[in-house]
Amino acid sequence: MPTKKTRTSPTGTTIPYGRQDLNVEEIKAVLKVLKSDFLTQGPLVGKFEQALADYCGARYCVVFSSGTAALHAACHAAGLKAGLHAVTTPMSFVASANCVLYTGALVKFADIDPAHAQITKQTIAPHVDKRTRVIIPVDLAGFPGDVPAIHAFAQKKGIAVIRDATHSMGAQYRHNGRWMRVGSCRHEDFCCFSFHPVKSFTTGEGGAVTTNNAAFYRQMISFRQHGITKDRGVYINRQFADRSWYYEMQELGYNYRLSDIHCALGITQIKRLDEKIKRRTELVERYRRELKGTVDFLEHHDHNARSAHHLLPVLVAPGIRDKLMQRLCAVKINTQLHYIPIYRQPFYQRCFSFSPKNYPCAEKYFKSAMSIPLFPALTDRQQSFVIRKIKEIVGELLGEGE
Ligand SMILES: *Cc1c(COP(=O)(O)O)cnc(C)c1O
Repeated sequence: MPTKKTRTSPTGTTIPYGRQDLNVEEIKAVLKVLKSDFLTQGPLVGKFEQALADYCGARYCVVFSSGTAALHAACHAAGLKAGLHAVTTPMSFVASANCVLYTGALVKFADIDPAHAQITKQTIAPHVDKRTRVIIPVDLAGFPGDVPAIHAFAQKKGIAVIRDATHSMGAQYRHNGRWMRVGSCRHEDFCCFSFHPVKSFTTGEGGAVTTNNAAFYRQMISFRQHGITKDRGVYINRQFADRSWYYEMQELGYNYRLSDIHCALGITQIKRLDEKIKRRTELVERYRRELKGTVDFLEHHDHNARSAHHLLPVLVAPGIRDKLMQRLCAVKINTQLHYIPIYRQPFYQRCFSFSPKNYPCAEKYFKSAMSIPLFPALTDRQQSFVIRKIKEIVGELLGEGE
């Protein structure tokens, strides 16, 4: 992401597909930490965790150095290990599958459903067997997927649901007449967030897991800090238990801590999250209205869901997608493909040789999807320019094909 604080203009600087936005208050909060006694493991870590748990309506929250570390911790706490496996979507960033491999377990991919480009109970079911310990649904583009149905299915089989909500912080869904936030953990055992600059709010790098389970919470706290505990009540060796210098490493953990510097940004930015989602929603509604008939959209307009609108994927004829992206780039409009199916990555091909033939919907989506510029600071004028150019270029490209 560019860090320059320039206003992009329709004819001047490039319009990116996503961009962070920090205000003076948020920058001041970081300066305050730099002048304080604690740069890391100070008071702001717990404060940020509390703010996140309150926002989501969950009992516990643990922050991590990245969304990937958060996913890894959740996989570990869920008991994934060699001999077991997890089912996830291929239509995601590689981290949502890599986190499974870190534990020694294997990953299986379920195909996506064409309406939402996410995995569903129906597409997951054929991949589940006795070795399945975890299901990782991803709220692609910020749209809350059918996690309540996936969770009900998983619970019957003793499988944990780790929701990859790195796109959907702030999204809401209605279940049995009641609105709730993604991350409340009523329909997931763990909910993972990322605070990377492309996500809905940022700490630079950072991530978090919410859960309502006290045992999972304690495990993740220890996992974040080398597997070390300083809680006398749980020491295994009692010999030095009363000494002030004593601590115990009881299992293998990592240094996945988030610093107070990062947390200062998080605490201040979370206050503006709903406002930012509101602006994203306005932008998406205008795109949908004005680009209707030019491109197709996913069925992300559902009266039981309020998307966080992290991305706006549009679908075009497979033959023109790459040319359209190229031509938009030439007029300084950046677009991106979310995502190359994970099983196509050379590492996954080399180690597991998944066959793209088994994922017809993911393949079709991969060939026709692209994400167009969507971020709160996108101006109406910039958006008009993007809409005009997309209409113009799609018209020309389709005309050439005739
Ligand atoms: C960003 C992202 C992650 C990883 O988050 P980091 O904070 O970058 O580690 C995981 N899954 C998905 C779908 C993402 O988009």
